[in-house]
Amino acid sequence: ASLLRYHRGRQQSEVEFGDAGMRPIEIRSDEILDGVTGLIGNTPLVRINSLSDALGVEILGKAEYMNPGGSVKDRVALRMIEDAEQQGLLYPYTGSRIFEGTVGSTGISLATIARAKGYDTTIIMPDDVATEKVKALEALGAEVQRVRPASIVDKKQVRCLSSYNLARERALHFTNTASDKLPLKSLSSNHAHPHALKHTNSSVVVTTATPHESKDVKESLEEEEELQHKPRGFFADQFENRSNFDAHFSGTGPEIWRQTNGNVHAFVAGAGTGGTVAGTGQFLKSMDDDVVVAIADPDGSGLYNKVKHGVMYDRRESEGRKRRHQVDTVVEGIGINRLTVNISLALSVIDDAFRVTDAEAVSMSRFIVQRDGLFLGSSSACNLVACVRLVQKLGWAAGERVVTILCDSGSRHYSKFWNDEYLVKAGIPVDTGIVQDMLTRP
Ligand code: PMP
Repeated sequence: ASLLRYHRGRQQSEVEFGDAGMRPIEIRSDEILDGVTGLIGNTPLVRINSLSDALGVEILGKAEYMNPGGSVKDRVALRMIEDAEQQGLLYPYTGSRIFEGTVGSTGISLATIARAKGYDTTIIMPDDVATEKVKALEALGAEVQRVRPASIVDKKQVRCLSSYNLARERALHFTNTASDKLPLKSLSSNHAHPHALKHTNSSVVVTTATPHESKDVKESLEEEEELQHKPRGFFADQFENRSNFDAHFSGTGPEIWRQTNGNVHAFVAGAGTGGTVAGTGQFLKSMDDDVVVAIADPDGSGLYNKVKHGVMYDRRESEGRKRRHQVDTVVEGIGINRLTVNISLALSVIDDAFRVTDAEAVSMSRFIVQRDGLFLGSSSACNLVACVRLVQKLGWAAGERVVTILCDSGSRHYSKFWNDEYLVKAGIPVDTGIVQDMLTRP
């Protein structure tokens, strides 16, 4: 944790050099961070030495795995919760519960922040997701419901409710029933936290009407107070929630711009909800229209075809196989087969797309851990494959800079992506040869 803190809040402009021959000493901000949410964002940008040296173009990774919840999703979860609080949809320490359908990262981020802010969480996820994510969620006190891995995004399925639909329905049901059962002003036993009282006291609207106040004003104040004390269910809905885009437009994008002093030529990311690529891409383009924005699209996702041909379909459809809503890959967190608010926002900024196979992503992750000592998750590996492709396609040379996202760490993926036995059984080769060939291509 102290190492993590060391990296937080440091400013690029505050780099000083120590004794000759020593590594630069970086002065940290003296600021004491306000709880776990203070650790979110301001992630370091790291040069991927192996790829940068081989390509002659700087490949920089934004180390989002250093967020306290372990992924890029901390930013989004924080923004969704705080926006909901501002809109009066959530009040802390009232027994309110946040619901989300997710493959894991967003759930862990929501559960982390919920603990610190006085909420409960219910995370609904497909049952084939790496088990370490479930363990992390349970440690954070989240209720985890696992459903058949039909789809996390398919709204049309009626009989087998997807995680997405189930999360929405349960949030609604929670709001409808919890507020009937629980007496007003009671604090949930889970949240008998000293801060709860403090917070509640300070946020209570005074309802005693003065003789001059009309009945209407009094009633609306009472309603407001009632609302503040009612437990509510909140469906975070990262796919359709604009706070997702905003977290990146006002966080990730400006950070990259500041860290590179505006010297950035391309941004590459995968899209799960599309929030990262939409928000970051749109911010970078607003600063410099020439920044190329490209996506890394894994096997089974339809986004590549949407970008290239205007239609969202998986290549297996053209091979006569039935369309699947599920994105069928060992890469977790990216790939999508339906248009969402955040994907639509992303489509307006995406210049290019690269399809990445499981074998390529696996090969990249092994190559990077061996050469750079960076132990990365599957979507980060996918992103790096797309970075190489982009540089080679554009024929870029020294002086150009590509920034990508290192979304989460390999430690979230021991049971699948970093499990050689599992991969071999699934017919996916585990070696660095594919990337080595890619890099030596004329
Ligand atoms: N990588 C991982 C590990 C993720 O969990 C996600 C989010 N699903 C992404 C990448 C993609 O981010 P976004 O949802 O912003 O497109």
